[in-house]
Amino acid sequence: MPNIDVLTRVKKETMAEVHRYGEEQELHHFYWRLKDPDTACVECKRRNNRLVNVYEIKYTLDTEFCKATTEEVCAFEIEATKVLTVVDERERQLAVIGGLEGDGAKGIRWQTADVEGLDDRCIKRDGRVFSMDQARSQLAGDFCKFADPEKGCECTFTVASNEEVERVATPAVSLEPEKKKSGCGAGLLFFALVPLGFAFL
Ligand SMILES: [Zn+2]
Ligand SMILES: [Zn+2]
Repeated sequence: MPNIDVLTRVKKETMAEVHRYGEEQELHHFYWRLKDPDTACVECKRRNNRLVNVYEIKYTLDTEFCKATTEEVCAFEIEATKVLTVVDERERQLAVIGGLEGDGAKGIRWQTADVEGLDDRCIKRDGRVFSMDQARSQLAGDFCKFADPEKGCECTFTVASNEEVERVATPAVSLEPEKKKSGCGAGLLFFALVPLGFAFL
């Protein structure tokens, strides 16, 4: 087990570095990089190249994070990285849409990036046309799972023709019969009339 003094020192130095990145460069995410992954303990190996935030680093350092058989902990460094949040990316994409709209576009065609690690939300939008309002509502909430947290949302928009936008704005009239609203109403009416009927007997 690493010496307790070593653990305390590593924790202090690492957190000082983490805070320095936060204050000077506004970077709050880090890759935990082992200097020598081959000789590192299992605990540290598990953590190698993981993307972690400030709290995860602090939590790790607060626990017995290294199971090295020497007095020293497995050598590592933290590499600060800019990670884009869904809020950052929404703002950026809304600005893109606003720009296209300012140029006179009525809608966009959503082009999902051809990268590994996308989820259904993005894949389902690929190639679809949205009016500007629809596009804005697509950007609500946790709208995109970034394949690469440093690149953010890699989806791009191209201008859709007015005819294409018209088509999505006026969906084909549904031929389905009206949902059984009236049936339900009639049922209620029936039950309302039954006691009345009894009242007349
Ligand atoms: Zn270790
Ligand atoms: Zn996206």
